[in-house]
Amino acid sequence: MKRSAALFLLLAASAAQAHDVRQLGAHVHGQATVDLALDQQTLEFALQAPGIGILDFERPSANATEQAALARAVALLKDGRWVTLPTAAGCRLSSSDAKAEGFDATATPPPAGQHRHAGFSATLQYHCAKPAELRAIVVRLPALFPGLHEVIVNSVTPHGQSRSVLTPGNLRVVLAP
Ligand SMILES: [Zn+2]
Repeated sequence: MKRSAALFLLLAASAAQAHDVRQLGAHVHGQATVDLALDQQTLEFALQAPGIGILDFERPSANATEQAALARAVALLKDGRWVTLPTAAGCRLSSSDAKAEGFDATATPPPAGQHRHAGFSATLQYHCAKPAELRAIVVRLPALFPGLHEVIVNSVTPHGQSRSVLTPGNLRVVLAP
């Protein structure tokens, strides 16, 4: 998959940030981060979310209900339903991926007395016929997953960089004035 230069810079910056924050305890339950980059006609999203927020557990699923919830979350994150783009922009999903990490029963157990975290990552790539129409988008994660109290969206577009904090009452990300 071709990665845009803008996304590369954004990911490099957020990797550095994540490294800094991790030392202070990065993984925040109920809080997800989305890095968004628009480069010409390519719009990319990279999501990181804790298990507690998307689901209500961070351990191997204990029964069929939890197993189904985990599978449903991965499918939903992968199919792009958590993003709504303006029809006028003519975007189509060109690739996507989603994974659950740390829910595996065979993963190494945490040292005694420590909590092991688990979470999700996902990427979406869209090709947009009219990227100038991408003035505002809707990221529906807090509505789809009520356990997510806050979703931080870091965006890089030809209009510059911005940071939006979404909550169940505000799902909109403004990308252009
Ligand atoms: Zn955790």
